Amino acid sequence: MSLTRQIVIAMIAAIVLGSVAQVLLITYSDHETLAWLLRDVLADGVFYLGGKIFMASIMVLVVPLVFVSLVCGVCHLGDQLSLGRISVKAIGLYLITTGIAISLALGLANVINPGIGVEISSDVEYVAPPPVSLLDTLANIFPTNPFQAMTEGKMLQVIVFALLIGIAIAHAGAAGERIAAQFTDWNAVLMKLVTILLSFAPYGVFSLLFPLFADQGIGVVGDLAKYMMTVTLVLLIHAFFVYPLILTLLTRLSPWPFVQKMRSVQLFAFSTASSTATIPVTLRNAEHRLGVNTRVASFVIPLGATINMDGTAIMQGVATVFIAQAFGLELSLLDYAMVVITAMLASIGTAGVPGVGLITLAMVLQQVGLPLEGIAMIVGVDRILDMMRTAVNVTGDSVVAVTVAHSEGSLNITQYQHSDAGEVR
Ligand code: ASP
Repeated sequence: MSLTRQIVIAMIAAIVLGSVAQVLLITYSDHETLAWLLRDVLADGVFYLGGKIFMASIMVLVVPLVFVSLVCGVCHLGDQLSLGRISVKAIGLYLITTGIAISLALGLANVINPGIGVEISSDVEYVAPPPVSLLDTLANIFPTNPFQAMTEGKMLQVIVFALLIGIAIAHAGAAGERIAAQFTDWNAVLMKLVTILLSFAPYGVFSLLFPLFADQGIGVVGDLAKYMMTVTLVLLIHAFFVYPLILTLLTRLSPWPFVQKMRSVQLFAFSTASSTATIPVTLRNAEHRLGVNTRVASFVIPLGATINMDGTAIMQGVATVFIAQAFGLELSLLDYAMVVITAMLASIGTAGVPGVGLITLAMVLQQVGLPLEGIAMIVGVDRILDMMRTAVNVTGDSVVAVTVAHSEGSLNITQYQHSDAGEVR
């Protein structure tokens, strides 16, 4: 059975069994042994531990893999001109796809009107994080200490350092060639480790999802049903209509192999709610399954995991309209333009970790003068939306990687079209 199918089964099993456990816990709330078994032993015991270990073993690979594969990619790039071209194309496409995502969200939210008639409870409170200026965000991309950047997982700093080292290796003659060979070997070893860990993904996914559904289930939806539905609808349109369309228009390739091969990456992102933790899986999928050359994938994927968050932008667009409507406030056309620009810029410099979208939402709301208490209203249902939008975020990174690789002649089309290429069994 293919790994993708195994992960799908694990996910469905975890959601069903987790929800059953939750119903049992509620129905027999005074049954101590049952609560002990389901909550203490399973949800908060065995599966909690399994999920933690699985996450840790993937997270531990993120920084070394990004660094090694990017150095590898850059030192084999041939000329630095192509690096410039790839960066411009990737960043341009990231901005355009995010712009489309948030415009779609604002448009549909204004049709569905998720916030009209919603009651605001008075006990909501939200403390906004201190704002970081755009200049500081840009300055923070450049590392002063590479080890600190790595230990703190500052992805953009790691990328900049890897680019510099890679360029130097490419120009360092015989010494550079020796080092480049070492990096190539390290890259192969780390990729092997990703493949080995991936074979445990079904167990990991189950362990991550079971406690989530056993402990909280979907939670109290109430007034937020329409908000959740709108976010979900826009996420689905973006993932299954906009991305395939962009891919077809820009590459003239069938989007079907892409849609099919992204499934395991999306499920992984859904389970972890973190684009950063998903980088090893996205990178492997891009290189081994979609046929994107390391030269392009090693740069475009980690960059996208940090600066490109289309799913997050969608949530922010819908949330802005929802909050404005719930508080009975009007937004002007200029406000909408500000929302688009702020949401596009807010994701730069924030790592793809669970829940970060709500923090950057604070910046968007502040920009157009909406009350931050609105965030407290939606926080209760955010986890499940976070999981879904993370799946969209990583899909966007891969669309851009395939498109840029295709335009650079760095896409192995036979591999892209071969449905079984690189599948773990
Ligand atoms: N969890 C998302 C990600 O990692 C970010 C967010 O929207 O909170 O991509």
